[in-house]
Amino acid sequence: MSAHTFQTEVNQLLHLIIHSLYSHKEIFLRELISNASDALDKLKYLTLTEESYKGLNFDPRIDITLDEKNHRLVIRDNGIGMNEGELIEHLGTIARSGTREFLSRLAGDAKKDSNLIGQFGVGFYSAFMVAEKVEVLSRKPLEDRAWKWESDGKGTFTTEESSLEGWGTQITLHLNAENHEYARSWEIKSLIKKYSNHIAFPIHLHYTRIDYKDKKETEEKVDEQVNLASALWKRPKNELKDEDYKEFYKSISGDWEDPLLWYHTQAEGTLEYTTLFYVPSRAPFDLFYADYKSGIKLYVRRVFITDDDKELMPTYLRFLRGIVDSEDLPLNVSREILQQNKVLANIKNSSVKKILGEFESLSANNPELYDKFISLYNRVLKEGLYSDYANRDQLLELVRFHSTAQEGWVSLKAYKERMKEGQKAIYVLSGGNLDTLKKSPLLEAYKSRGWEVLLLDQEIDEIILPSLDKYQDLEIRSINKLEAAKDLGSEERVEESEKTTLERIKNILGDKVKDVIASRRLVESPSCLLTSEEDPTLQMQRMMRALGQETTELKPILEVNLKHPILQALSGQTDEQIWSDTANVLLDQAYLTEGTAPRDPSLLVASLNRLVIRALSQK
Ligand code: ADP
Repeated sequence: MSAHTFQTEVNQLLHLIIHSLYSHKEIFLRELISNASDALDKLKYLTLTEESYKGLNFDPRIDITLDEKNHRLVIRDNGIGMNEGELIEHLGTIARSGTREFLSRLAGDAKKDSNLIGQFGVGFYSAFMVAEKVEVLSRKPLEDRAWKWESDGKGTFTTEESSLEGWGTQITLHLNAENHEYARSWEIKSLIKKYSNHIAFPIHLHYTRIDYKDKKETEEKVDEQVNLASALWKRPKNELKDEDYKEFYKSISGDWEDPLLWYHTQAEGTLEYTTLFYVPSRAPFDLFYADYKSGIKLYVRRVFITDDDKELMPTYLRFLRGIVDSEDLPLNVSREILQQNKVLANIKNSSVKKILGEFESLSANNPELYDKFISLYNRVLKEGLYSDYANRDQLLELVRFHSTAQEGWVSLKAYKERMKEGQKAIYVLSGGNLDTLKKSPLLEAYKSRGWEVLLLDQEIDEIILPSLDKYQDLEIRSINKLEAAKDLGSEERVEESEKTTLERIKNILGDKVKDVIASRRLVESPSCLLTSEEDPTLQMQRMMRALGQETTELKPILEVNLKHPILQALSGQTDEQIWSDTANVLLDQAYLTEGTAPRDPSLLVASLNRLVIRALSQK
């Protein structure tokens, strides 16, 4: 017998499972059945594709045996099994990336959201929610030796050679005192029906029924199949109830909340396939991890092929859970060539079109539900705007933005319908948080004309901005670019004396600015910043620097409001110091209102102090 210690992350997880998760303990059964079903899937695939496995007399099934007297529950499958090395690796470590971060986040969270941990997939380790000791016996189909793994979940486990009839895995849970109910037949039966009814393999339950007949106790051994054991997605749609879809979702996703939406397609014709896609009602925890887990399982004629092919769906739809089952692929399609496969590419393309179409009709027919949907997935859908050019038009209908016109989310369609006469384009303002954007001086002229401006306050907005050039026949223009300013009216006439003011400010600011121009749009504020059309916006530059990218310092254009009292009063001044202080304050306050720190705060403070002293000392 050899002793092993669990990987740190496993210990952390076990600690959380044993000490913090009090609700939904029953999901341990779903997790173990799901593992057994995966093991059967894997072996089934091998028996159909590998010569050496074809001779196996394989009748896939799951057997659950209850021993109520001794408080034991045993789950047996005749699947792929594990040898000693695999037992140590799979039941001693967690390979998933992001685990460490996830666990420390969860450990710090006072609520210990059991739903989160469910989505994370506690898997095998959830057995320790109800058991004080877990024994695993396992043997691989083509190997002679069987192995035993055993642990009480407190830091260590042991492995040793053992024996097992047939191949597969047998897990024995020694239930702890608070959880003896899980050795009772009615309890387990109802749990299987609730969570695992749609597992595609038969689940048999074995227990002893005790009856009292003629005042005598009789024992009867019972063996019954509890689940339906058919592939739900292949059953006719009209036979399936909402409840069936919801249960099935829970059995494949590890979520215990109902899904928000689902779409079931049984396509016949040149290509024959079935898809069943679900939208979770809460975003998967790893949605924004680079190494997220795919939620789509690929089947070929009901045989499970893989669940880790991220190419089955575009990345911006990675929140989907569900199934793709093709009738046309060869069973032994190698996982490596899946990606170049034409059949799959076709299924993917039509599925994406179909799903985006469904989202669009949802937004028209059920705005309330759509709101919920978009609050979860707006950001990830926006990624599609630069990654999926073919479906861009449809994606533009789906994404939502903040706006000056109303609270909440706004669509481009609604914007277009509200446009005022004379308005030439869709205007957007990006960078900074919603509050800063709402107060931006750049908005003044648009407000006074009643023109709506979309406020792109999300980080992703800044990234998609370069690809947001048109919606239908309308151009989308950033109002912090010089170009958009022209839409506000013809070039203002600038008097000679005003020209001198502009030039003088420009001379003072020197290479801090690209240009100083008269404002076409400022009403209340004295100044604001613009970038020229070919330069990235200031916020974009800031973000690139934050990401560690070297950017050459691009200079802004300073726009000043010549009608503002400051500028009016300035032109009459003769003192050089006043000119220089005021010019610097005009530039720095424009940075500030835009949400950027002034270049040299001490310089700004010095200028302000001089101006204040002068104002105070005037009688
Ligand atoms: P997950 O199922 O999410 O991978 P688990 O902790 O539940 O995580 O299981 C870890 C691994 O242990 C599985 O990926 C699988 O390789 C192996 N395993 C678990 N249960 C079984 C089983 N009944 N038969 C064969 N392998 C299993």
